[in-house]
Amino acid sequence: MKRVTLIKGDGIGPEITDSVMKIINAAGVAIDWDIQTAGADLIETEGTPLPQRVLDSVKQNKIALKSPVTTPIGKGFRSVNVQLRKELDLYANLRPCYNLPNVKTRYDKVDIVVVRENTEDLYAGIERQVDENTAESIKIITRKASERIAKFAFDYAVKNNRKEVCVVTKANICKLSDGLFLECARKIAQQYPQIKFREILVDNCCMQLVQNPNQFDVLLLPNLYGDIVSDLCAGLIGGLGIAQGANIGENYAVFEPVHGSAPDIAGQDKANPTAMLMSAIEMLNYIGENEAGRRIRLALFDTLDAGIKTVDLGGNASCTEFTQAIVDRLVVLEK
Ligand code: ATP
Repeated sequence: MKRVTLIKGDGIGPEITDSVMKIINAAGVAIDWDIQTAGADLIETEGTPLPQRVLDSVKQNKIALKSPVTTPIGKGFRSVNVQLRKELDLYANLRPCYNLPNVKTRYDKVDIVVVRENTEDLYAGIERQVDENTAESIKIITRKASERIAKFAFDYAVKNNRKEVCVVTKANICKLSDGLFLECARKIAQQYPQIKFREILVDNCCMQLVQNPNQFDVLLLPNLYGDIVSDLCAGLIGGLGIAQGANIGENYAVFEPVHGSAPDIAGQDKANPTAMLMSAIEMLNYIGENEAGRRIRLALFDTLDAGIKTVDLGGNASCTEFTQAIVDRLVVLEK
């Protein structure tokens, strides 16, 4: 039986985790879950929001499904998400964004894959207070990280029959840092003549995304623009409740929704588990449980098609009701 680390997180994390586990169980996939907790609640008992045992567990199992963990703004601890990605060298953040059935949005046929560099840029966390009135953040971009994420984007494009990779920077202003990212993307692009290569500035990219998202295929971005643009892309297809994600490195993979811990709706049975469920489907594909992944996707799409939706998608189903609807459909599919 495959052993997978499950990080429960906080906010809506536990609710959507329970939902996804119920659905995976109903699909008949036997997984030996290594359940780990992380987050601000542990600071008092374990002295850190990301105990070493969590890292050890992912290192041992090589694969994890993670629900959101709150990043306190301006507190002493580094973000658990950032630390996890850095410690495990999960250098690629992969966020596919496409329309789901019966989720009405301004656009049809959106099918964009965001490939975000995950280990450096302003997320390197190198900041200092220069004086009382001045703070400084250092943006780190290296050739090694830029080339490997560009290679990841092009390899992904080849494997998944995508036509184009578009690199997104602000190289006209950050001439050295974004300039290096762009230079690396250009170099790697030459090794993939079968994939079209395009360059765009991030501000123009945002405008084009809201005017005509269908022109984009695979987007390749440094860390911070990747964070912002992927939320924008989530907005194009119906919001954070349905936006899936994965963090992938040479040795480990951690699947997690794009959204945060949504403290505003935590504990109210209102959360949409779809983003976490779709991340879990990718995790199942990754461990070779493609058939179960396919059935879960079918049950999810059928549930949405039947108009059973959570509040964020304009419906009135609770997280529990939505989960049960998917489980019921899985049971029928089993027969
Ligand atoms: P972080 O910085 O940790 O990524 P964030 O600032 O992006 O967090 P989120 O916690 O992702 O914020 O929430 C943003 C908004 O989207 C909130 O109003 C939240 O309720 C909503 N939201 C996020 N995830 C879901 C979900 N799964 N279901 C329903 N609403 C959600």
